[in-house]
Amino acid sequence: MDVDQVLLEVVGEGEVASYIPALARVPADKFGIAVQTVEGDSFRAGDAEERFSIQSISKVFSLMLAMRIVTDSLWDRVGREPSGNAFNSLVQLEFERGIPRNPFINAGAIVVIDALISVLNEAKICFLEYARGLSGNESINFNDEVARSESETGYINFALANFLKAHDNIDNDLDVVLDTYFHHCSLDMSCVDLARAFLPLANNGFSTILGDAVLTRQQSRQVNSLMLTWGLYDAVGRFAYRVGLPAKSGVGGGIIAIVPNEMTIAVWGPGLDKTGNSAMGTRALEMFAQMTQRSIF
Ligand code: GLU
Repeated sequence: MDVDQVLLEVVGEGEVASYIPALARVPADKFGIAVQTVEGDSFRAGDAEERFSIQSISKVFSLMLAMRIVTDSLWDRVGREPSGNAFNSLVQLEFERGIPRNPFINAGAIVVIDALISVLNEAKICFLEYARGLSGNESINFNDEVARSESETGYINFALANFLKAHDNIDNDLDVVLDTYFHHCSLDMSCVDLARAFLPLANNGFSTILGDAVLTRQQSRQVNSLMLTWGLYDAVGRFAYRVGLPAKSGVGGGIIAIVPNEMTIAVWGPGLDKTGNSAMGTRALEMFAQMTQRSIF
């Protein structure tokens, strides 16, 4: 598998996210790609081992954990529809009376995290242990500087959380919920870590690293379907057209893509396009899918 060829052809483009001050300092010319197959082969190129802020990619881990341990119906509190609006839209939440459209917009992830806090004693630590276990890397950690930077400037997230609370869709203390949310987003992982951690979604819920199922086959399909329909903000249709794989992006410039039954592909390029997705990462995945003729369609 020639991941080096993908690396060579992807030239630096896009703009690094600056609304979270701690992210604005990341050099725009970084690029990494890592592939992990369900058979145990792995491929990597460029800055694949350098850690970066996974940001909204963490929302998939939060959801996977919640699907496993939250017994009350999560889906009474969060929808499963594409949003068609910005990932931090307040307008939509008002219109829909405090029920976020899906678990991958900020409001939806905040509700999922609130549900986790209700069933876990130490939701932050449990989440960290979960990500460590999935990737088989005990040294993965939160980036406290990024979490602090977000909490100092996260006015819209505070507004979303207050609005959810006003609609009785948050059970726990708002400061605790937001602190947990900002920490989840601040997780630093590399492309190699991500490709390994997401392997259960390419493997019917089974983690070869843990030697155990972390989701049922059905849940694994459900998470993939949500990634396909809202994994890339408001560019999800274009991404499905260009790449044709379930995927999730974050404003740190990472994207994880799933080829069901075969492999995961993690890319990182901090420059974002206008929709908030990694410009280089999207192009790299498009090239990869074309070169290897992989698509779910
Ligand atoms: N922590 C970011 C925020 O809440 C996540 C954004 C993203 O990666 O989509 O704005």
